[in-house]
Parts: sequence; structure tokens; C-alpha cells
Amino acid sequence: MKKSKTLRLVVLSLLLVSIISCSKEDDKINVQQNVASFSISKLPEIPEFARSISVDGEERKFILLTEKDEELLFNLSSKKAQYFGKKRVLYGTVTSGGITENAFMYLGENGFYLSFTKDGKPYEIEKNGRLDFGYDYLMKSNIERISSKKSYIMKILKDGYRSKKLVFDENMINKFLNPVFINETKNASEANYLLVDVGLQDHKSIDTYKCQTELLNDQKSLSSECDFFDTKEGRRPKLDFIYIEKNFKKKAITNVIESIAEFTDGEFFIDITSSGPHFLEESMDILENDPEAVDEFVERISDYTNAFAHDSAADDSSDQKIKLNNFYKKYYSDRLGEYVFGALFGKIWNDGIRGLAGGHSWSGCGGSPRYESASFVASDAGLYTVAHEFAHVVGAGHTERSLNDVMIPSRIKTREHKNAINIEIMKKRMDL
Ligand SMILES: [Zn+2]
Repeated sequence: MKKSKTLRLVVLSLLLVSIISCSKEDDKINVQQNVASFSISKLPEIPEFARSISVDGEERKFILLTEKDEELLFNLSSKKAQYFGKKRVLYGTVTSGGITENAFMYLGENGFYLSFTKDGKPYEIEKNGRLDFGYDYLMKSNIERISSKKSYIMKILKDGYRSKKLVFDENMINKFLNPVFINETKNASEANYLLVDVGLQDHKSIDTYKCQTELLNDQKSLSSECDFFDTKEGRRPKLDFIYIEKNFKKKAITNVIESIAEFTDGEFFIDITSSGPHFLEESMDILENDPEAVDEFVERISDYTNAFAHDSAADDSSDQKIKLNNFYKKYYSDRLGEYVFGALFGKIWNDGIRGLAGGHSWSGCGGSPRYESASFVASDAGLYTVAHEFAHVVGAGHTERSLNDVMIPSRIKTREHKNAINIEIMKKRMDL
């Protein structure tokens, strides 16, 4: 009698507990029941949730399990941003331990890359080996195409340089023709994907950040009548990286998108592209289709290598930016006024500068020849340099050093914009 009463009590209380926990956890259970979960260390190269985007606003919901069996519930939707020729950007949230924070997913040709915050700290889920956003593959195939005729091309370049009385630097051309463009440095782990604590990486690389702008921002630009860039998509910024040095850290580029997303609630537009591989492709087409066009080919390759493919540390950042501007004016004059151009290097310059931008130039408020200075050069020595320089181009100025903001002039430790005037100017200029 006593026994069965106790048992009934136990059963009753168990039932109660389960009812309580059910009603409490109901939402969570329902949400998670339909969500596939994957262990990070056992992910295939291209998991289902990282398939190409086919529809605008497409949603992706999935759970990733860490080695410590922590659950990361991602809830993302595709954005209008174009990243190297395709819609590759998804933005939303990650929920872990009941806390929801921001998350970004970028889709490459051979997998994905996730960037998110957990307990206020930045993390990444990185592909083990290099993730290709389409740029590497194109660049590699073009350089291989040129290298396959290396002795012939070396000869015509040598002759061409001599006839133009230019100094032929065989090492420079060799460096440029080096077909090992993708350095597949893999972690010793067998896994396709690894969870990386970004916070630890940042502190190593940003301590000596230095930036220079041609024009500094001021509050007047908010009220002044600016000659805005207007593209087919309104003021949606188009950013063309003509040159990206091999192994440039992708985090430094994706931080451009992430720094805009922070203050636009995900309603950001940006079109990031790169003409570099296409320029080389066109150069080879010119040579192969018309043997008489040798001179034109030599000129194009020498312009390209002189402007970009050399030891960038030998120059001052301002020389580098002039070279970029001259190259664009010569080959892409039809894009002046529509694109912001950038060139990205793995080294800092002689003058110790890590990034140099034409401030105000995208809007034409600055007074300098606007289209010509809508450009910037940046190194990936600091992970926030590209985001900082891009913000200068669309009107942001330096902020107080004491503010933990992406626009402080040195030692940047965040991608976030916190200065209300900068945010207002950038939103206005990007039509957001
Ligand atoms: Zn700056």
C-alpha cells in the first residue's frame, strides 16, 4: 500500500515535470525537430545547407554541434549582396545556450564559411584548406594558360619591353607567372571544417595598424549638395577589386559586408567583384586571336605587373594608389563613376601605412576629382583595414580613439560603426 502510493506519487511528479518541461520547451523542441543537425568535424565538403542560393530571401536553418557537444542553431536568409559575381551571402542569427547573436554565411565554390558571435566573441567555421569564391579558380586557370606558353611569352615580353625601353625584370614576371596561386595549406586535422576562435587571431595582427586618408570627414558633408553616384541599382555600392594578392585573408574582405550589416539590420546592398582574372583572360584572348596584337598584349601584361604583381613593400601607399588609379583610368574608364576600385595586398608599404583611401569620393563631396579617387588600397595586416577604407570612400571619417569603432585611426579592434554621424552619412550615400 505504502509502496504503491509512493510509486503513484513518483509517477505523478514525473508526469508533472514532463508536462512542465514540455510546455516550457515546446517552442524549442518544435523548432529543432525539423532542423537537421551536423557535427562540425564530420561535415561533408559541401553540406546541403551550403548549396547555392536560387531564390532571394531563401532561408537556411541548421544545427552544428561542436566538439564539446554545444549546439549552434543557425537561422539565416539570403541577402541581395553580390559577392564575386553571385549571391553568396546569408545573414541572420545563431542561438547557443539560449543566447541569440549575429551570424553570416558565405557560399564558396567548394564549400562555405561561417562567421558569428558567441558570448560576444567572434568565431568562424573555416574550411580546412582554401575556400574559393570563384576568384582563385579563374585566376589560377588564367595564369596556367599564360604559363603553358611561358618560354614564348617570356620572349615576346622581353622583346616588347626592350622596344619600349622599359626595364624587364625577369623575377617580377616569374613571380607573376607562378602558377601555384592557391596555396592549399591544410590543418593536420582530417575534418573538412574547423571551429576557429577569431579573437585570438586579431590581437596578433592589428597592433600597429596605420591609416591615411586624402580628405578627412566633417559634419558639413551631411548638408552639402553632393553629386552622388547613381548606378542602375540606385546608390548600391559596387566594389571592384582589380587585384587581390594570393592568400589575402578572406575575413578582411567579408568584414566589409559585416560592418555594413551591423547598422542596416541586414538590409544591405553591396556588389563585390574582381576584374583581375578577366583582365588576364582578355589579354590571352587578344594574343591568341590576333598574332599582330603582340604589342597590345605586352602593354597589358606590363601595365598589370607594374601596377600590382610585384613587391608591394617597395612602394609608398600613395604610389600604390596612383598606380591603381592610372590602371583603372586606362582600362576601365567606362566604369568610372559607378564603381569603387580597390587593390588588396598581403604586405604593408614602405611608409608603414596599412590602408589608403580617397575619402568622400563616392559621393563627390570632397572636392578632389571624384571618380578618380573613388578607390583604396589595403593590406590584410589588420582584419578590419578593408572595412575601414571602404567606409572612408562612402563618407565616414575618423572617430575618437577612445571609441571602440572601426573608424579609429589605428589599432582597430572591431568591425562595428558606433559613430552616429558616420552611420547617417554612409546610409544616406548608400541609399539605405
Ligand atoms: Zn582611416
